[in-house]
Amino acid sequence: MRAKMALLILAFAVSAALAAAQTKTPRTTLDIYVVDVEGGNGVLFVTPWGESVLIDTGNAAPGAVRDAGRIMAAAKDAGVTRIDHLIITHWHGDHVGGLTELAKLIPIKEFIDHGPNTQPSPQIDEFLQKTYPILYADAAHRVVKPGDKIPLKGVNWLVVASAGEVIKTPLPGQGKPNLYCDLYKPDDNNAEDPQSVASYITFGKFRAAHLGDLTKNKEFELMCPNNPIGAVDVLLGLHHGVSSSNSPVIVDALRPRVAIMNNGTRKGGDPATMQTIYSSPGLEDLWQMHFSLLSGQEYTVPGTFIANTTDDPQASMPVLPMPSPTPGPGVPPAPQHNGTAYWIKVSAQQDGTFTVTNARNGFSKTYHGGK
Ligand SMILES: [Zn+2]
Ligand SMILES: [Zn+2]
Repeated sequence: MRAKMALLILAFAVSAALAAAQTKTPRTTLDIYVVDVEGGNGVLFVTPWGESVLIDTGNAAPGAVRDAGRIMAAAKDAGVTRIDHLIITHWHGDHVGGLTELAKLIPIKEFIDHGPNTQPSPQIDEFLQKTYPILYADAAHRVVKPGDKIPLKGVNWLVVASAGEVIKTPLPGQGKPNLYCDLYKPDDNNAEDPQSVASYITFGKFRAAHLGDLTKNKEFELMCPNNPIGAVDVLLGLHHGVSSSNSPVIVDALRPRVAIMNNGTRKGGDPATMQTIYSSPGLEDLWQMHFSLLSGQEYTVPGTFIANTTDDPQASMPVLPMPSPTPGPGVPPAPQHNGTAYWIKVSAQQDGTFTVTNARNGFSKTYHGGK
């Protein structure tokens, strides 16, 4: 009798497990998590076949543990247990700063970068000499150049700029004159931003680009006189929305339907950038990582599209944008948002349809393919 009961229990357990396995539908979408790393960058891609690419790792200490933890939360949500390819776009603390902490939490199979640092800094140079080689010792390490690909099943990943060089051959069917090149105004800000590894990613008809922190001068080199890329559905990052990048040469010419800006509460979202983004001819929505005090009510998008607000909410928000803080000796760093953080998630289908979700308020919007 007892044996019969045990058998019954076993049969029940097996059928329950089978049912659970059947209801867990396999992933069919390319999922992109734009993680809140406080005006830095950390974007996780997960393909339908479970391969993962992470672009950047967030800030250095004191934000490193926080940012690595936030990237891990996205990895956990996606069911990712290893990073197959990590791209460090360039050697700035808000992009590579969280790497040492992140590498303690999850295996990284391949480290991809643009090559040597071009902007000497004691912390970065020490990291590159002592720590980085140890991190990739048991993995692959690759310095990429324009035209290189990241091998993924079902997803095409093309490097369009790296180490200051840009692709010379347009993508198939592209290479038409870029009508916005006349609007180009030279701008640069430092040595490393223009070195960024920039990526163009397609999954079926869905197209996305992440250009690291490429500056206006490099945008011009990539996009003028002819546009080698064409249009994208989603433009990711936008160099935190700062005005040393994001010229019409790129933001108008790529005609993103959706832009997702990795800005901070006081970094990016300034009026000049917002004007350019809003003027982009195909834009349907701008989504932001944070409310930006630099936008004020005058330039901000509705809160619905903003993943994180501020830690010190004001009773009312001034209409006029706040002037951009000027960093310098004796100026305290801008307060950061250390509370609960929320990502923006893109789920893209092969027919080009994609859904963007704000993890803070659950608001999501689907953009249908075929446009
Ligand atoms: Zn940056
Ligand atoms: Zn935040």
